Amino acid sequence: MDITKMTALALGKKIRQKEISVREAVLASQEKIKEQEESLHCYITLNTEAALLQADKVQKLIDNKSLTGPLAGVPVAIKDNICTKDILTTCASKILSNFIPPYSAEAYINLERQGAILLGKTNMDEFAMGSTTETSAFGITKNPHDTSRVPGGSSGGSCAAVAADECFYALGSDTGGSIRQPSSFCGVTGIKPTYGTVSRYGLVAYGSSLDQIGPIAKDVTDCAVILEAISSYDPKDSTSVKRDSYDFTAGLVNDVKGLKIGLPKDYFGEGLDSQVSESILAAAKELEAKGAILEEFDLGLVDYAIPAYYTIASAEASSNLARFDGVKYGYRTEDADELHHMYKKSRSEGFGPEVKRRIMLGSFVLSSGYYDAYYLKALRTKALIKQAFDKAFDRYDIILGPAAPTTAPKFGELVSDPIKMYLSDIYTISTNLAGLPGISVPCGKDHEGLPIGVQMLAKCFDEKTLIRAAYTYEQTRERV
Ligand code: GLN
Repeated sequence: MDITKMTALALGKKIRQKEISVREAVLASQEKIKEQEESLHCYITLNTEAALLQADKVQKLIDNKSLTGPLAGVPVAIKDNICTKDILTTCASKILSNFIPPYSAEAYINLERQGAILLGKTNMDEFAMGSTTETSAFGITKNPHDTSRVPGGSSGGSCAAVAADECFYALGSDTGGSIRQPSSFCGVTGIKPTYGTVSRYGLVAYGSSLDQIGPIAKDVTDCAVILEAISSYDPKDSTSVKRDSYDFTAGLVNDVKGLKIGLPKDYFGEGLDSQVSESILAAAKELEAKGAILEEFDLGLVDYAIPAYYTIASAEASSNLARFDGVKYGYRTEDADELHHMYKKSRSEGFGPEVKRRIMLGSFVLSSGYYDAYYLKALRTKALIKQAFDKAFDRYDIILGPAAPTTAPKFGELVSDPIKMYLSDIYTISTNLAGLPGISVPCGKDHEGLPIGVQMLAKCFDEKTLIRAAYTYEQTRERV
């Protein structure tokens, strides 16, 4: 039996039943990584020896019944913008290429408490800016389904690692689709929770009002359990929300009778690949056959989501990334003759082209004279988008559509044309602008065998219904 093909939960169970030891599970993952990494490059940093030490420690705690949870002893991969104490956290950038955080992100601490074993830190677009993982300063990650294609981004390393069985599950971050889009391209399942559900403490900030950490796994059940494990109210994050319930696994119910599902007509128009469209509509029909009520509707404002998102995300990024100046963190230029010169050179040499583009765009839209014309207008648009979703959720429990307009493109296709790359985020970014929870679930493959993901959205704090719809859909088909 190939252990690495198991879901996180199935492995957790075998570990608790003493059929597989934690060390065996870690070694199996490490073997898979060794076999495939040269070609796929899912990881930036491997935690090889420390993972084995951690495995022995966790095994003892499982043996003496101190650790009894479903994820105890299960190996995980973490996106490299989530801080892990004493372990390199680069954000796939040159400027943080030597950054070893003195603390861990709250979401990761929550996993450690459950007995997770860290296999390594995964590749991503630099500072999570991108849709293909090609903007990484550490080289590209390849899509395990076709190595001439991108895994998506920015959590491309995490999604490829799950798809290639190089970990049992992973954490990613989603500012405008970075969990859902690569999940769709890699044929895995990923959830972006309601804004405020998972603490952002220790997540290196990109667009603070949009960023959320979320699970990437082999199925909906794993995702629900992992989300439950990482979610918590955290006073260290001022946007953390104390929720009434964190019982996401209560949504694992195979029943959608009477559930109202809205299909936004605006999501099925020009630009959507016909095979993707067919596959998404077939998924909707499956849910209808199980008793859900389907209806098409006009969501509206879709054309405004991309400009609003890139204005807000870049504005926040330009402010968040101001702290990387060669003084306190990371890379500092070798030769600078005075302080100002040192800042300028460190930043010029330390940031890649996509990050610089965002910093310039963000500084521009925040500058006096342009603030009202761009930034404030984008914030107003964001409020209108939120209202449009609120109105839709008065009528529907779930909104269903594609996660991405196409399947995984070839290398170079998107990254060479920034506008084309930004436009490819059309179906995911408004979710973040409205703070909603969303999931991408595999729903088929195109003629070339490339995975397609169906995206479902629910109203804020209703992950339970989201998980219920996704779980019910998943029961209708085999894992791809
Ligand atoms: N592709 C989007 C961007 O580049 C989303 C990235 C993300 O969700 N981190 O901003």
